[in-house]
Amino acid sequence: MIWYPYEQMKTMKEPYKIIDAEGVYIYTENQKLIDSVSSWWSVIHGYKNPKITNAIKNQADKFSHVMLGGLTHEPVQKLEQKLREFLPGDLDYCFFSDSGSVAVEVALKMALQYYVNKGEKKRIKIMGLTHAYHGDTFKTMEAGDDEDYHFILEAYGENVNAIHIPTNIEALENAFSMYHEELNCFIVEPLLQGAGGMRMYDIAFLKRARELCDKYGVLLIFDEVATGFGRTGYRFVSDLVLPDIIVLGKALTGGHIGHAVTVANKKVYDGFLSDSSEKALMHGPTFMGNALACSAALASIELFEEGNYLEKIKKIEAITRREFENFSDERIKEIRIMGGCACLEVYDSSTLKGFQEFAYEKGVFSRPFLKYLYSMVPYIISEEELVKVFTTMKEWFRR
Ligand SMILES: *Cc1c(COP(=O)(O)O)cnc(C)c1O
Repeated sequence: MIWYPYEQMKTMKEPYKIIDAEGVYIYTENQKLIDSVSSWWSVIHGYKNPKITNAIKNQADKFSHVMLGGLTHEPVQKLEQKLREFLPGDLDYCFFSDSGSVAVEVALKMALQYYVNKGEKKRIKIMGLTHAYHGDTFKTMEAGDDEDYHFILEAYGENVNAIHIPTNIEALENAFSMYHEELNCFIVEPLLQGAGGMRMYDIAFLKRARELCDKYGVLLIFDEVATGFGRTGYRFVSDLVLPDIIVLGKALTGGHIGHAVTVANKKVYDGFLSDSSEKALMHGPTFMGNALACSAALASIELFEEGNYLEKIKKIEAITRREFENFSDERIKEIRIMGGCACLEVYDSSTLKGFQEFAYEKGVFSRPFLKYLYSMVPYIISEEELVKVFTTMKEWFRR
C-alpha cells in the first residue's frame, strides 16, 4: 500500500496516474494537464527539461552517488562554486542535504550550536512567524505554525522555547525587547508564506528584523525553500535583505530530483572552526551532495542565469494582475498576487470542494488546500496557457 501525503487514506479519492510529463504538461492516460502547481512549486523550467535531463544522464554514466564522508567529487564542487557566485553577500558555506525539511533542521542546528560553541548558553529560544511552514520534521514543525500540524502540541506539549509572532513591526519590536537575551535565531519564509496560506507581507518587516537581529546578536534565517529562484519576483529575497543563513530546496534542481542546501555566512561558519572536534557540525545525511542531484542543480541554475527568468516572472505577474483585475466573488475573501504566485482565499473551504475535478476536465491540474486556491506555475508557461489556468479558476466561481 502506498501511504499518500496529507491524506485520510480511508476516504482519499484515486490519485491521477501520470504516464508522461513535458514542459508545463503532465499526462494521464486520457488527459493532458497544465500543472499549475509545478509539482509542489519545484519544476520551474518545466518537466523533462533537456539540459537538466542530459546533465543527470551524463553523470549517471560516470557514477550516481558517492557519500561526502571522506570523499568529494566534481559535481558537488562545481555546484558549491556556482552557489557561492550566485548567492548574495557572504552566503558562501554550503551544507547539502536531501530535503527542505532536513535543510531547515540543519539551519536551526547551526544557529543553536553557534551560540553553544561561543559559550553563550542562555540563547535557547527560536522565533518564527504565525502561519509559518518550515517542513514536516519535528523541529521544523515547532518553528512552524501551520494549522494542519498542530497535533504536535497534543502529542508532546508545547515547546516554550519556540515563539511565534505576526508579520507586523510592532509585534517584532515587542518580541525583541522581551526575549532578546534568550533569543537565538529568527526564522522566516521571507515575503511569501507558502503552505501557511500564500500570505504576503512587506519588505519593511524584514529590514527591521535585520536591524534588530544585528542589534541583539540574533541570527536571521531565511527559509527560501519556496521563495528561492524567483517565486516572489526577486531571484532571492536575500538579494534585498541579507540573512545569516539561507535555506534552498524545491526548485534547486529544477524539480528534477530531490535536494536542498543550507548556506551560512562567514560569521556562522567561523563559529564552528576550532581545534576541538566538539565544535564541529555533527550532521551528515546519507545522500547529501548526491552527484545526480548536484548535476541537475548546476544545470538548473545555469538555465536560470541564461534564460532571463526575472523578465519571465515579471510577465507572469503582469498577466496575473490583468486577469484578476475586475474579478471578484462574494465567496472570495482576498486575491493575493506576488511574482509567480497567485492565491484566491475563500471564506469557506467547502467553496473549493470539487474544483480539482472541474479543473481536470478543463485540462488543468490544481491542488487547492484548506481555503486556498492558488497557482505556482512553471516559469516557462506561455501566456495562453497561463490565461487558461486563471480562466479555469474564474469559471469555477461563475458556474
Ligand atoms: C516545502 C517547504 C519545506 C520542506 O521541504 P521538503 O523538501 O518538503 O522537506 C520547508 N520550508 C518551506 C518554506 C517549504 O515550502
